[in-house]
Amino acid sequence: MSLQGKTAVITGSNSGIGLGIAWEMAKAGADVVINSFTDRPEDHDLAAQIAKETGVTARYIQADMSKASACRALIEQAGNCDILINNAGIQHVAPIDEFPEDKWDAIIAINMSSAYHTTAAALPKMRAAGWGRVVNIASAHGLTASPYKSAYVAAKHGVVGMTKVVALETAQEPITANAICPGYVLTPLVEAQIPDTMKEYNMSREDVVKNVMLTRQPSKEFATVEQMGGTAVFLCSDAAAQITGTTISVDGGWTAL
Ligand code: NAD
Repeated sequence: MSLQGKTAVITGSNSGIGLGIAWEMAKAGADVVINSFTDRPEDHDLAAQIAKETGVTARYIQADMSKASACRALIEQAGNCDILINNAGIQHVAPIDEFPEDKWDAIIAINMSSAYHTTAAALPKMRAAGWGRVVNIASAHGLTASPYKSAYVAAKHGVVGMTKVVALETAQEPITANAICPGYVLTPLVEAQIPDTMKEYNMSREDVVKNVMLTRQPSKEFATVEQMGGTAVFLCSDAAAQITGTTISVDGGWTAL
């Protein structure tokens, strides 16, 4: 699968799933734009490392995905945008009657509205290029719910709904829109929680992973960022040209339960 000549813009990609997708896109030959709200030397270093190891053009563009104008500016600054991966996301956990309003607004803005702004800015570029792929990183929580995650579940269900609309609006064009719905993915953030949880429950690493973290993931294994990247690359392949408006769960069976 070669994505040579394509440019992929991945929001929220200086760590975790977004960074994993950026690497897989670059390995498949796409030029990549990685992004977050920070502007540190190490952010730019990530792009330089991807470029050095894969030979593609890789740039880091700072843009705060909680702000409409910054979302649109990211796409403008990217130049070409053949592949748009909406991945930026945050989480906050609290009962709905105690859920802080500012957290609600931030989660809706970053996890959902940013995908509207970037998609609106990117579609004219895809149309001009005669090819495009929108891949939204939703979640198992875009299809099911858990208590205390009202804003996250609302935003992720919203992303899944918007994905279907974008697919219908582009159905007769060489553009597709799909959502990947990950289960629990082993990101640095998740890995960092394991030692504390081991101490808290006096459990082995294996028990924490299987019986605390992965209670809802029947495979009892984390999904990986490489698998998210591989799924995104597949959605950009010719084999996926008629796959549009749907969700692909990469969740070890979570949503089959
Ligand atoms: P992460 O915290 O490693 O990555 C989130 C990324 O978003 C980071 O690069 C962060 O800098 C960026 N970001 C946060 N706020 C931003 C803002 N205002 N502007 C721009 N960038 C911003 O977490 P992750 O697990 O890699 O999550 C990535 C996506 O995958 C999220 O949308 C998340 O909801 C989704 N997801 C993760 C899991 C999981 O188990 N890790 C499961 C399902 C879905």
